[in-house]
Amino acid sequence: PELLTIDAFIRHWAADRPQRPAMVGERRIHFAELDASTHRVATALLAAGLKKGDRIAWLGKNAVLYFTLLFGAARIGVVMAPVGWRLAAPERRYIVHDTESKLLFAGEGFADDARAMAPQLPLVQRIFSADEAWAWIDGTTPAPFVASGPEDAILQLYTSGTTGNPKGVELCNRNLFGLRRQAQQAGLPWAAWDDDEVVMVAMPCAHIGGTGLGFMALAGGVSGCVMAEFTPDGCFDAIEKEGVTRFFAVPAALQMLVNHPRCAKTDFSRLKYIFYGAAPIPLALLQQCVQAFGCQFLQAYGMTETTGTVVTLPPEDHDPKGSPRMRAAGKPVPGVEVKIVGPDGQTVPTGEVGEIVTRSSNNMLGYWKQPEATARTKTADNWVHTGDAGYMDADGYVYIHDRVKDMIISGGENVYPAEVENAIYGHPDVADVAVIGVPDPTWGEAVKAVVVPRPGHTVDPAAVIAWARERIAGFKVPKTVDVIPELPRNPTGKILRRALRAPYWEGRD
Ligand code: ATP
Ligand code: MG
Repeated sequence: PELLTIDAFIRHWAADRPQRPAMVGERRIHFAELDASTHRVATALLAAGLKKGDRIAWLGKNAVLYFTLLFGAARIGVVMAPVGWRLAAPERRYIVHDTESKLLFAGEGFADDARAMAPQLPLVQRIFSADEAWAWIDGTTPAPFVASGPEDAILQLYTSGTTGNPKGVELCNRNLFGLRRQAQQAGLPWAAWDDDEVVMVAMPCAHIGGTGLGFMALAGGVSGCVMAEFTPDGCFDAIEKEGVTRFFAVPAALQMLVNHPRCAKTDFSRLKYIFYGAAPIPLALLQQCVQAFGCQFLQAYGMTETTGTVVTLPPEDHDPKGSPRMRAAGKPVPGVEVKIVGPDGQTVPTGEVGEIVTRSSNNMLGYWKQPEATARTKTADNWVHTGDAGYMDADGYVYIHDRVKDMIISGGENVYPAEVENAIYGHPDVADVAVIGVPDPTWGEAVKAVVVPRPGHTVDPAAVIAWARERIAGFKVPKTVDVIPELPRNPTGKILRRALRAPYWEGRD
């Protein structure tokens, strides 16, 4: 039978491979233990008066405790909402309050932060430290429960907040198990996993690249290596000592790994796949990674609202020399429809830029408590508007140009920051770059590059402009270049263009 719910997967693997490791982190547990501990969580939540559709929140780093609470709650349809620990106190409070959670679980080291928020969280009945949570779980005697169904919400993830306030995205069992099943049924090699694989969960659990991968590891019946947070050393250690076979990383994380002195010394022979995405990757960085790691690469493009991946760039399209195809985000995963539409909602001709829209059973139920925002993003017949601009070539490959909102209009020409950033990224003095539009009396907006120098190098603005002129059309070339020590990024590695633009636009739009 097809497995469609977390409860079905946990029971299946606990019967099939009880003694195999299910999760490795601050505790090591096998599948029989995962079954028992999540059963206790479900019982304890019911005993505390929670029922299907109620919410609980997690403030903390990635942990086996987090996944135990998440999976246990999900078995009975209690919805877990992880809160990004890198967010500032008011942002964390906004999210916990928005979830209407009754219980707040604090990860290791976050109990004081959680308790400090308590006076402003009238709906939260109880706050648990990590030790208290484990004691609560371990001290419960499991009792029978009614399992959640495929369409029941089990996870509420907040969008990264790149374009505004983060929105709570409600995802159900079917959403979370759909992607890998569809890819497997279509025979895609990246979805065929061996039983002894180890999947490293290193991206933050408040992001689909963290928790979503945890669900995938469970669905595959393989071991999840839960890293509290991403650090290059932690990753190299996990690859060497835990035998990690695949992981997901955002481009900013790959950049740290590939430029690290340990990269050349680490044995990557067990590593099969690196999945990457969440933000545009500069071609030069991708080439460097393909050469350095020697494993298969799979780009994923998607969003929280689509439970992550909608298009993938398969391994065969990655080559160390950097083929033009490597600039694509990839082809739609089987079972996922993708269209490029103009402002009138009609599909634009092949090769023309428009907004990317997508339909599949992985699309979210909706935004929590935001029916208007849901209606703006998801049509009645289940097309999600991504807000990203891009085009599709004749072979069905989708190229991401950037957010529709980030497009710069300079002298009537449309300029997409990612393309300009890509051109500048390869400059030997440049470590990082962001491109924005700034007010200009002649052009309306003028293209500006904000660059971070490589350690020990100085950036000459004129040289960067000349470099760009050799690579992209004149109207896309930055008119000015500013040098700063570091780019503002959000916890998922995305450039905060709003923050970068603000000083230039003060007192205007
Ligand atoms: P918010 O919706 O709150 O503004 P966000 O859109 O950044 O935040 P996420 O859902 O985490 O929140 O990110 C989805 C977005 O990330 C996509 O809409 C797209 O802009 C970007 N993205 C994801 N994957 C890729 C990729 N492979 N290449 C380029 N951009 C990507
Ligand atoms: Mg978004």
